[in-house]
Amino acid sequence: MAEFTLELNDDQKQVRDWLHGFAKDVIRPAAAEWDEREETPWPVIQEAAKVGIYSLDFYAQQFFDPTGLGIPVAMEELFWGDAGIALSIVGTGLAAVGVLANGTEEQIGTWIPQMYGTPEDVKVAAFCSSEPDAGSDVASMRTRAVYDEAKDEWVLDGTKTWATNGGIAGVHVVVAVVDPELGSKGHASFIVPPGTPGLSQGQKFKKHGIRASHTAEVVLEGVRVPGSCLLGGKDKLDERLARAREKARKGGERVKNAAMATFEASRPAVGAMAVGTARAAYEVALDYATTRHQFGRPIIDNQGVAFQLADMRTRIDAARLLVWRASWMATAGKPFTSAEGSMSKLYASETARDVTAQAIQILGGNGYTREYPVERMHRDAAIYTIFEGTSEIQRLVIARTLSGVPIR
Ligand SMILES: Cc1cc2nc3c(=O)[nH]c(=O)nc-3n(C[C@H](O)[C@H](O)[C@H](O)COP(=O)(O)OP(=O)(O)OC[C@H]3O[C@@H](n4cnc5c(N)ncnc54)[C@H](O)[C@@H]3O)c2cc1C
Repeated sequence: MAEFTLELNDDQKQVRDWLHGFAKDVIRPAAAEWDEREETPWPVIQEAAKVGIYSLDFYAQQFFDPTGLGIPVAMEELFWGDAGIALSIVGTGLAAVGVLANGTEEQIGTWIPQMYGTPEDVKVAAFCSSEPDAGSDVASMRTRAVYDEAKDEWVLDGTKTWATNGGIAGVHVVVAVVDPELGSKGHASFIVPPGTPGLSQGQKFKKHGIRASHTAEVVLEGVRVPGSCLLGGKDKLDERLARAREKARKGGERVKNAAMATFEASRPAVGAMAVGTARAAYEVALDYATTRHQFGRPIIDNQGVAFQLADMRTRIDAARLLVWRASWMATAGKPFTSAEGSMSKLYASETARDVTAQAIQILGGNGYTREYPVERMHRDAAIYTIFEGTSEIQRLVIARTLSGVPIR
């Protein structure tokens, strides 16, 4: 009979401890500075590349961990260090996953190494799907990709927004409309190689949190990429479009909103990031509550404080269990029949938002200042209920999956 355990094996513990050391010694001490600077922390990314954390090999190893826990354990530790810096380290992974999921072997081998560069010359990559009028509603995307058969080139025009690493990336992965009649079924993904004319950075956003992570608009004006930059290749695209047109012709299935399905598999990883931030804030609050004295005793002696800490820890552990379950299911090839990926992201992100707010409360006035890290952690935590599908979209996905009703 298969053995059941929630205990990490020795290899996983070793990786976790190694990452924890990097988060504690390299990421955490740099967190406040890069949050204030609101810039990409290149020296920290370089350091991560030198020790092997910023590399395709590292993510591939975690991704192929047969228990499914490699990625969530890694994300929790790095984001425990600091969410903005950790996102700068793992943001390239979003673009890499886009290529891994849709690319041919040749495309994977050509482009993913270029996304990371080398420890001596690190690069970052960007995944550009969201647009000013197409956030949750991915089917409203307007960026067009038109095939120029004579030159075997695709021509991309449009404006992307909220792109992590947008404009500072070498390789950009851009999702665009190839057949506007088909909604999200008419989308395809393209590699835009480094230095391609016509791609430029628009506005760089000044954000509430994760300020060390660069977020910007990406403007595409007559961007020409070779036919070989269509992820998956033209034959596969033509087959897919033909199938979608046939279904549409028969008046078959409603065209599904891609935002609700595409990210389902990656959502537990975002949940794990949220667990990392929540755990970091909880630890600061626990430490403060045992050392801060008021009325002649540590504030944790008050039930009002102690019970908050009890709830915080309970929610963090519950969030981690949901994340681990979804990650295990995804690796074991078990379908998310109850939208378990969305459940994990929804619960973990709201836990991070609430736990970091409680941490500020427990630290009182100090919690409200930048002398202590919990106000930054609370600002950072707000992103988890927004990106990779907002909390409302997660609830929509869960409710639709459970009920089969097309709730709007
Ligand atoms: C810091 C940051 C980094 C990001 N990085 C990337 C990236 O690298 N690449 C990328 O492509 N995108 C990225 N995004 C975009 C992110 O995924 C979107 O912001 C997100 O999907 C929400 O879209 P929106 O902002 O347009 O909000 P909207 O879709 O306009 O939503 C606004 C509000 O309406 C609610 N709402 C919308 N539709 C419904 C509905 N049907 N039912 C109930 N409520 C609804 C939402 O939940 C939300 O509360 C990033 C965003 C941020 C802020």
